[in-house]
Amino acid sequence: MRQLHWFQTDLRLTDNPALSSACDADSLLCVYLMPKPRPWCNLTGLGAQRDRFLRESLQELKLQLQQFGQDLMVLEGSPELVLPNLFDRFSVDRMTCSFSPGWHEAQAVAFLQEKLPIPLDVFRGTTLFDAEQFPFEIEDLPDTFSPFRRKVEKLNVHSPIPVPKNLPPPPSAQFDAIPQAGATPHPGLPLPGGSRAGLRRLDQFLFQTHAIADYKQTRNDLDGMSGSSTLSPWLAVGAISARTVAHDIFRYEREEQSNESTYWLFFELLWREFFHWRAVLDERSLFKQGGRSGRRLLTTFEPRQFARWCAGDTDYPLVNALMRQLNATGWMSNRGRQITSSCLINELGLDWRYGAAYFEQQLIDYDVGSNYGNWQYIAGVGSDPRGGRQFNLAKQAELYDPENIFTSKWQGFRPAQPAHVVDGADWPISEPH
Ligand SMILES: Cc1cc2nc3c(=O)[nH]c(=O)nc-3n(C[C@H](O)[C@H](O)[C@H](O)COP(=O)(O)OP(=O)(O)OC[C@H]3O[C@@H](n4cnc5c(N)ncnc54)[C@H](O)[C@@H]3O)c2cc1C
Repeated sequence: MRQLHWFQTDLRLTDNPALSSACDADSLLCVYLMPKPRPWCNLTGLGAQRDRFLRESLQELKLQLQQFGQDLMVLEGSPELVLPNLFDRFSVDRMTCSFSPGWHEAQAVAFLQEKLPIPLDVFRGTTLFDAEQFPFEIEDLPDTFSPFRRKVEKLNVHSPIPVPKNLPPPPSAQFDAIPQAGATPHPGLPLPGGSRAGLRRLDQFLFQTHAIADYKQTRNDLDGMSGSSTLSPWLAVGAISARTVAHDIFRYEREEQSNESTYWLFFELLWREFFHWRAVLDERSLFKQGGRSGRRLLTTFEPRQFARWCAGDTDYPLVNALMRQLNATGWMSNRGRQITSSCLINELGLDWRYGAAYFEQQLIDYDVGSNYGNWQYIAGVGSDPRGGRQFNLAKQAELYDPENIFTSKWQGFRPAQPAHVVDGADWPISEPH
């Protein structure tokens, strides 16, 4: 049997059921296709830090595969075109991939399953639970987080499966080196790609510094490593699995201590889980302005406002600092994401999808369910039982950066800008006198 494994958001050897299923094949071709973000809002290509983190993760995966006599082929192009071509060239008998919740990804899989005369088997492994474990049919997934959490939090998280003992050899082919990224990790938030760095960070946050024990109090810190786990980038590319993180939390609770904070880190993984399964169910409506409710929003599009938000050059110093942190590092705290998204939606009156698309381009932890689900939540067209959030920006600055340390560090104080210009061709033409 000649097998092909299509890596997507499962860039790891440990706890990768799809890859492990290839152990008995005669040959195995490991392939990764570079992602192309949705070409929305004139945003094209990956942001420098997202590109960097992904390439580092791929380089390490390639090295790890080479230790098994294997290799990784990284190609450009859409799966619908590239994978049938590889099937022909290498006479593949079976393809595998890990499940991805996004609608576009599901469309590609459905297309390939129809077009290819061989099986394309999709394995779970990116979530804490399998759908079969839920005490409800997936169609009955709760609309909001709390009922979901109550129904699933006591379920068993299966143990991560170990690295395969061996892998079949690759077919004879050319495996090019993965070109280096242009960017390097930002010294202010050094998050290198690859599963080893992810596991190091997990161990550091739990067993070395015991930061997990105060997590509930520190998780709103704006500046990264000191506050929250910063595990999201490795979880997003699949360099570490959610089950690995959960089982380390449980081990910490058994061996060290168990308190509200240790529970809270697991609680946040349940948010990730919730948005993953909602994305599966919400399909295309995850990308619609009105979400699954179809609610109509009153928005405007003022390109200059959007450009200023992206660059961190608005009239709101804390928002500027956060956006500058994102642009420089590819990461932003959860509190920061809530503040900046609320600003785009409520202060600037823009369509939330522009903000989501910009985050998709820049975030090193971009994850389709968590990103679009959280944006919909803040915009009031998703899973927020309160119908959306508006954060008082001055109050947020007072609470989370009372001495402007963060805002100054990331150069959030910008020179005043003229109010936006409305010329004769625009609407409305002029204010009535
Ligand atoms: C507008 C907006 C966009 C977002 N986009 C993304 C995204 O593209 N990718 C992403 O992983 N997260 C996203 N989040 C969720 C959250 O901000 C990040 O997961 C978190 O800040 C990552 O930092 P951390 O790993 O230190 O989190 P921690 O606080 O240490 O939490 C641990 C893990 O729990 C999960 N988690 C925590 N909070 C959330 C949440 N609100 N929703 C879903 N999962 C959560 C993440 O996997 C995270 O790594 C977004 C939030 C908002 C408000």
